[in-house]
Amino acid sequence: MLRLPRSLTIILSHCLLFCFFVSCGNKSQQLQTALSENMSNKNGQSGSGGGNGSASNAPVVRWNANAFPLNIAISDNFTPEESAAAEEVSQEWEQAFDDYHHLFRFSPYAPTPSGYNKFSDFRDGVMGIYKNDRWFPSQYADALAITQFFGHRINPGREDEYIELDHADIILNARYFSFTLDTEYPVYNRYDLKTVVLHEMGHLLGLPHSEDNTTIMAPSITYSTVRNTLSSKDRYNLQKNYPALSVKSFDVEATSEEYLDNSERIVGEEVTGVIEFHEKDYPH
Ligand SMILES: [Zn+2]
Repeated sequence: MLRLPRSLTIILSHCLLFCFFVSCGNKSQQLQTALSENMSNKNGQSGSGGGNGSASNAPVVRWNANAFPLNIAISDNFTPEESAAAEEVSQEWEQAFDDYHHLFRFSPYAPTPSGYNKFSDFRDGVMGIYKNDRWFPSQYADALAITQFFGHRINPGREDEYIELDHADIILNARYFSFTLDTEYPVYNRYDLKTVVLHEMGHLLGLPHSEDNTTIMAPSITYSTVRNTLSSKDRYNLQKNYPALSVKSFDVEATSEEYLDNSERIVGEEVTGVIEFHEKDYPH
């Protein structure tokens, strides 16, 4: 078995990543690029996503409002303190609306699947937050973490087309990086766990990257970045993604009915996506 030095492995993986995102001139378009590159139908055939791959036309990605709260398992290779921190920081998203919404229901200490060798293996019956210390051999070695998601195109080709999620997982790259709750003394290659989890949970809720580096959805951080609260822009972006959850309480009933009315809905092909989170200083 050929074993490459770590630095070379990272460079090679970086090349793959670069090719993956080569059509993307702008980091906020990574979601769209990832989607257009990764869109596949149920037969696993890669496709252009029905010609909807233009970067200026990023699709809305969201859960159905009645999918909440999402059941999320926190892998048992997080310590109890780390697990509690992940739950705690997720409340930032739950408090993003004018009215509190219970978005997540956590079950701690889910067993870590040992035989999972690629992202898609994590699409099992459990949506989880995992720390993977083997990482994936052929790609994304320089990514701190990834969120992968699965869903369907709803109303394909129509102006109101969006992607409705039905499964997502957050996987932290514990092979090449470590994660900490100790933010007092930054250590090279060691990242604030809360910052990473808060960012990835934004993807899990359907949010793309943001160009604005004051937001949690900025596409990269350094080892000294501690950004474990949401900015007003982050909250606004989540509200915009979930109009049915963000209306004032007196409007909720009518809007929810409209939102949940499936009679007009056309369910299109299955879509998968992987969004990665980088260390900032990596030379792209
Ligand atoms: Zn990201």
